Amino acid sequence: MQKILNYINGELVEPVSGKYLDNYNPAEGKVYSLVPDSATADVNNAVEAAQQSFEAWATMPVEKRSATLQKIADLIDRDLDKLALAESIDQGKPVKLAKAVDIPRASSNMRFFATGAIHFASEAHVTGNEAVNYTLRTPVGVAGCISPWNLPLYLFTWKIAPALAAGCTVVAKPSELTPMTAYLFSQLCMEAGLPKGVLNIVHGLGPKAGQAIIEHPGVPAISFTGGTVTGKKIAATAAPMFKKLSLELGGKNPNIVFADCSFEQAVRTSVQSSFFNQGEICLCGSRIFVERSLYDRFVTEFVKLTQELVVGDPLEEMTRVGALVSEAHMNKVLSYIELAKEEGGKIVTGGKQVKLSGHCANGYFVEPTVITGLNEQCRTNQEEIFGPIVTIMPFNTEDEVIGYANSTPYGLSATLWTENLTQAHRVAARVKSGIIWINCWLFRDLRTPFGGMKQSGVGREGGWEALRFFTEAKNVCIKL
Ligand code: NDP
Repeated sequence: MQKILNYINGELVEPVSGKYLDNYNPAEGKVYSLVPDSATADVNNAVEAAQQSFEAWATMPVEKRSATLQKIADLIDRDLDKLALAESIDQGKPVKLAKAVDIPRASSNMRFFATGAIHFASEAHVTGNEAVNYTLRTPVGVAGCISPWNLPLYLFTWKIAPALAAGCTVVAKPSELTPMTAYLFSQLCMEAGLPKGVLNIVHGLGPKAGQAIIEHPGVPAISFTGGTVTGKKIAATAAPMFKKLSLELGGKNPNIVFADCSFEQAVRTSVQSSFFNQGEICLCGSRIFVERSLYDRFVTEFVKLTQELVVGDPLEEMTRVGALVSEAHMNKVLSYIELAKEEGGKIVTGGKQVKLSGHCANGYFVEPTVITGLNEQCRTNQEEIFGPIVTIMPFNTEDEVIGYANSTPYGLSATLWTENLTQAHRVAARVKSGIIWINCWLFRDLRTPFGGMKQSGVGREGGWEALRFFTEAKNVCIKL
């Protein structure tokens, strides 16, 4: 069976303990590779390698650093098919989606920050003609980057690319549920000639390998994407150590449909924003609010399109909804369907596990599920489910729907559908979310801040902000 290896000090190495965890193909419900069960000793080796390589990487001409990172992006583009296949097998998502979104966006992350670092500048001020004050930014040191399983290579590169581009060296841990593309990525780094120790990838469990990274005194900055509960634990460890902290956490995103919307576009995109990647995207709109006069028509069309989605083998071209990432996650998602019923919800379509035949007979598939009849305060509408489940509720007024939208502890993203420009801007300003999409979904411009409000995170990153996060600022004042 294939063994995934850690990438430490430029080499692919076994975990110090020699212990491995099973890595499942969720579409088959079968173990297909082994992932290192790394612990403190592995993290210590990784941090030491990152510390030793820091000075040379941080002081290397930025053009040279940039060229290496762009070479890695070129290799991702070259290996698009191979990486997309690996991500599909590892995570359960349709290979078509991995090929169209995840892997190309991973390459864009590398390219964006590699080129951005060349143009990165800091401010200088002439102060009353008496002095010049300027901000000197230097890379913060070894960065700890921890990423989740839902968009494995995309979010892994979203963390490490700005860190490396800013001149930090990195110790990174992908989710142990989806380690394969990070492993293939380590091979691309070796091929691209990334100096040894600049990036170190330690595979393993969050509470063990992840926690060892967070706790390590030699890691002054932590960039984490994952669940809110884990984010709290990480903050509790890192804050008393005064580490720089960026947390991109969970969401329960509202999708608000006004009666004057462009109906076709609103309903089609809403089906996508509900069920893309099996609903396992932090930015999925899991609560749809529809203005009452449009409600019945919207629900009818939405359900019809949902029923047309093909749930199946992620490797098949026609598949639109693949497998959930693990059996435990599938059971969690199914338990929320039961909860919704207990809370008085009506399952309009879906609601069950899907049993496929052939090699996917033991896979973790769930029907795209539409639930109506719930109020905004119930647990189904307050807690992040992170699966192919969406609720639809009617509303009467703008104030009412803004109240619904803002009623959860989360504030990651929101989508608005209306042709009324004034209303769109007014509502966008009042909904408490880090990203608002108007008449679209999932468009990203990497120059803008990304991240959530409230319990969806702190330290919104994007463009310069992400590069700045991985630097320390110093004010230098010269008397004229
Ligand atoms: P988790 O919080 O469970 O895990 C995220 C990462 O943290 C994994 O690598 C995990 O390792 C690791 N981890 C777990 N415990 C610790 C710990 N004590 N110390 C350090 N690291 C730890 O999230 P999921 O992987 O389940 O991902 C889904 C969540 O991510 C959802 O809530 C989703 O909304 C959120 N998310 C947020 C995004 C955003 O941009 N705001 C984007 C994408 C997802 P292991 O897997 O081994 O447990």
